[in-house]
Amino acid sequence: MAGKRGRASGESVGRRSTPRRVVVRPKPSGHVPSVEIRPDLIEPFLSDAAHVPGGFAAGIAFPQSAGEVAALVASAARVLPIGAQSSLTGGATPRGEVILSTRALTGVTVFSDNQVRAGAGVPLSELQRVLTARGLYYPPVPTFDGAFVGGTIATNAAGAATFKYGSTRQWVDALTLVLADGSLLELRRGEIMASLDGGLELQDQSGRIVRVQVPTYPMPAVAKLSAGYFARPQMDLVDLFIGSEGTLAIVVDATLRIIPMPRRSVALVICESDRQAISLTAALRNEAAKSWHGDGSLDVSAIEYIDGRALAKTPDGAFVRAGVARPNAASTALLVQIEIRGDDDRALQRLMEVLTKCGVEDVPYFAAPGDERGARRLLELREAVPSAINALVAAAKARVDPQIQKTAADLVVPFERLAESIALYRSCLESRGLDYALWGHLSDGNLHPNVVPRSMDDVERGREAILEMARGVIAMGGAPLAEHGVGRSALKQQLLRELYGDSGIEEMRAVKRALDPTWKLSPGVLFPEPRRHED
Ligand SMILES: Cc1cc2nc3c(=O)[nH]c(=O)nc-3n(C[C@H](O)[C@H](O)[C@H](O)COP(=O)(O)OP(=O)(O)OC[C@H]3O[C@@H](n4cnc5c(N)ncnc54)[C@H](O)[C@@H]3O)c2cc1C
Repeated sequence: MAGKRGRASGESVGRRSTPRRVVVRPKPSGHVPSVEIRPDLIEPFLSDAAHVPGGFAAGIAFPQSAGEVAALVASAARVLPIGAQSSLTGGATPRGEVILSTRALTGVTVFSDNQVRAGAGVPLSELQRVLTARGLYYPPVPTFDGAFVGGTIATNAAGAATFKYGSTRQWVDALTLVLADGSLLELRRGEIMASLDGGLELQDQSGRIVRVQVPTYPMPAVAKLSAGYFARPQMDLVDLFIGSEGTLAIVVDATLRIIPMPRRSVALVICESDRQAISLTAALRNEAAKSWHGDGSLDVSAIEYIDGRALAKTPDGAFVRAGVARPNAASTALLVQIEIRGDDDRALQRLMEVLTKCGVEDVPYFAAPGDERGARRLLELREAVPSAINALVAAAKARVDPQIQKTAADLVVPFERLAESIALYRSCLESRGLDYALWGHLSDGNLHPNVVPRSMDDVERGREAILEMARGVIAMGGAPLAEHGVGRSALKQQLLRELYGDSGIEEMRAVKRALDPTWKLSPGVLFPEPRRHED
């Protein structure tokens, strides 16, 4: 798929005020793939996991190479790239564009024990299958592992293990991209950095130069962030495209870092309260940090949290399948993933010591090191929680009002502010008389408060609560857009504005305008499309 790497011209990395420049390759040869317009072929692609109604498309195409992607983009007026459509933001729901499905951009090449190249259309589950056969692993996996490589790069997806491994961004070494005019950009991390004054330049074959100005807003210092364009002085051009949600370019393939497959053990720990769950998580994070510095054996990579309200709404069958007794109503569950080195059983001994120290009385449920089936069974309990809430939302929609929608937040705070943030979420929801459930990636400070709406009024009040929570987490140095992105959700776009202000949105729009002057790629994603006279 990818050809020769693009060459940089210009000075030493980011030292002077002249921007570094990358030369874009002309449109690679390739036929325009056929654009299907039959309604029955388009219909399955008119919605994503946000289930926003009213999707419509001009057609759908399944390009098989960078050349075909480029030819399609060059020939179309409006294009929406899609992966597995697991977006929770409506970002992968078409609004009249030609849908560019990446599912035929397959192909996985393992270069070495630490690098793999994968097509944008490779599902992460398939990537892991190929890697597992070689004892290798790609760490930044979201809870839904059917997501595609391209979709996870476009949203800077992050999973449970972000506190150990970081988000997708940290694992991308190189990208092959198709820009809005159909030209090809091949970028390798470390080659093209913004100048001191925040300038980046792209030069096409005719010598025309496009200047991109890196936005100036400060990004919050949190474990994960999927909130519009990455912006940092002297940043790497690769980072501008990661997390840009398909608005600046189409990801055709990516070169990703990989590691040896860790051997894991999973423990399900029942805590008597939020307070105990938070202090245990803090203690386990400390243990993990020590082990990474060679001082200790308890290498914890992820701690997932399910609150008592979420447990109460999870059907009995999920507990039966996990082999776990339903905890009492006041309890909170933590799923702790531990990486085990060799045959070292000191990690599990140390876990028991930490549990005792934190006053946890119930004996945890364990999947022993290497017992992947057992680990999956316990982790499926976590996955049963969003499914249970989605089923309740769907039932209210069917029974009460078809306008009822999933009303959920994706909030992250610096870990030190976690207890305060949970208190804030509960008070914002309870003061409005809302039923809700709370779960998420506790070790990252990233939780998903979900309203369980009984009426359209609950949905409205839930949105107000999310706005209040968002303002609260921003004041704590956190972010209201942690891992799912912004997409076409009016509420999430409002949260982006709360985070960076009108001026931040204008700076993002200037980046978009420079790279995609006709607003061809994913129009209306991240921020509204300008009215005709504005741009
Ligand atoms: C049950 C469930 C659990 C989830 N858990 C997590 C989680 O733990 N962490 C997390 O981060 N997310 C999670 N998500 C959200 C979702 O899985 C991620 O956002 C994922 O990265 C989307 O990948 P996708 O292939 O489905 O992309 P899509 O949903 O198809 O697209 C997402 C966005 O990326 C753009 N895009 C897709 N492919 C490309 C491409 N090749 N080039 C440019 N732009 C592109 C689309 O236009 C769209 O704006 C979850 C979703 C579900 C349903």
